[in-house]
Amino acid sequence: MLCKVYCACCNGLEVTTITVEVSVSVGIQYRLVGLPDSAIKESQQRIDSALTCNGYRLPGKKLTINLAPANIRKEGSSFDVPLAIGILCASKQLEENITERLSSFIILGELALDGTLREIPGALPIIIHSMNQGFSSCILPRNSALEGAEIDGITIYGASTFKDVVDILSSPESCKNMIVSSKNISMQKSSSQEKNNYDFALVKGQLKAKRGLEIAAAGSHNVILTGSPGSGKTFMAKCLPGILPPMSKEEAIETSKIYSVAGLLQMMTNNENHTGGLIRQRPFRAPHHTITVPALIGGGNKGMPGEISLAHNGVLFADEFAEFDRRSIEVLRQPLEDGVVQVSRVRSKNYYPARFMLVAAMNPCPCGHLFDGAGECKCSSSAISKYRAKISGPVYDRIDINLIVRQVAASDLIFGGDVKEEPSSVIAERVKAARDIQLKRYSSNNESFFTNAAISSSGLKRYCSLGKREELFMEAVINRHKISARGYTRILKIARTIADLAHSDSITMNHLAEAVQFRCPDKDELF
Ligand SMILES: [Zn+2]
Repeated sequence: MLCKVYCACCNGLEVTTITVEVSVSVGIQYRLVGLPDSAIKESQQRIDSALTCNGYRLPGKKLTINLAPANIRKEGSSFDVPLAIGILCASKQLEENITERLSSFIILGELALDGTLREIPGALPIIIHSMNQGFSSCILPRNSALEGAEIDGITIYGASTFKDVVDILSSPESCKNMIVSSKNISMQKSSSQEKNNYDFALVKGQLKAKRGLEIAAAGSHNVILTGSPGSGKTFMAKCLPGILPPMSKEEAIETSKIYSVAGLLQMMTNNENHTGGLIRQRPFRAPHHTITVPALIGGGNKGMPGEISLAHNGVLFADEFAEFDRRSIEVLRQPLEDGVVQVSRVRSKNYYPARFMLVAAMNPCPCGHLFDGAGECKCSSSAISKYRAKISGPVYDRIDINLIVRQVAASDLIFGGDVKEEPSSVIAERVKAARDIQLKRYSSNNESFFTNAAISSSGLKRYCSLGKREELFMEAVINRHKISARGYTRILKIARTIADLAHSDSITMNHLAEAVQFRCPDKDELF
């Protein structure tokens, strides 16, 4: 008898429905075909043991199992459960009505030897794919099923054991207690209520740097902070998540899918005030400067997402940017431009979204003390140039906002001690208002982008148009600072954000002047 069970596999974020066909005929053999990897080939031992523990058995006949379509490589141990169900149905160890019901289910899970189910990677993209393909239900290991708790439009069962899977298939109506829904997740507190050790209220002075970071957060612009060790640049960068707006549901789904494929979603969403569901906080990834290229952009033999994709819709913080391997800095060029990264593997390529805000921090010179006053820095000018050249022109060109962070003057620290600095929560409100303006403007025009940093080249004319006076001003600025075409568009986008923070429809001279100052600080400020 031939039996079909449906499951799915992920290659990157791309999901394909896999049909498990099991046929039982005369003879004794166990054959698995259709490009399975070694983990799937080893499934026979796990299935055999799990079936025996649950009162079933592998039939002593010739079993042929095909995983279709045959040209797609299948990996991992997620196919144990669909294989086991297929074997039981084909050998008539389960009731007839189950066989008929199988066509509306996607089933996945790894089996432990006693028949308990182990979680699988990629549950969230698989659930969304199943819904789009018209399947009415999914059966997944309990913890994996919780990843889909906020997805409507498909019934998701969370099974703890192989027996649960058989029970659900025999009588879905009597297993409603295993259905996962948004009731299963205890909602996360809103980001403002969460305890945050990094708050702009703790940063004395530094008004210009704070303003620059506010603009960066409001338009999702890339930013670099240059300053001496101890000037507070790392601390300020870590304050950024506290002023970023919460993710929309679409953004939360996009980011959570990447974590799901990497097997990290449950770790991110299971904590004291949250269980299951989607990531709501914008990610903040801070890889160390010794990170390898594959760990940064993704890869390895499984083609896993890297740090830049885990930072999608959030922040990639590169502290000590000049200490990163030259190649690690260079590979950021393409994703910074396109918002996606292509990850090569042995026989295929995976694509992952990687639209992140790059926040880099570096010292002004090899010793770090160039800004600390005369005589402090002993670096030669050629050593300083060489150090700065580690960040190549093309990468530098893609960083919108250039912030110089100086040590806070002692007088400010002592006499300004009583001055109340603005807390992150107040800045966050302004940032959110500016982001809402952008979201409304771009979604009402059916654009594919939502922030000023991501405005397409065709969108520039439409959303960043200038008056005659402003055009003449920009012409003078371009000639004076020798600004590239890319630099010019970046200034326009920053100016658009500054205008949005001021709730202004048009971009004025003031907005442009401030944008230029952040994009191209005076040379004497840098040296
Ligand atoms: Zn120095």
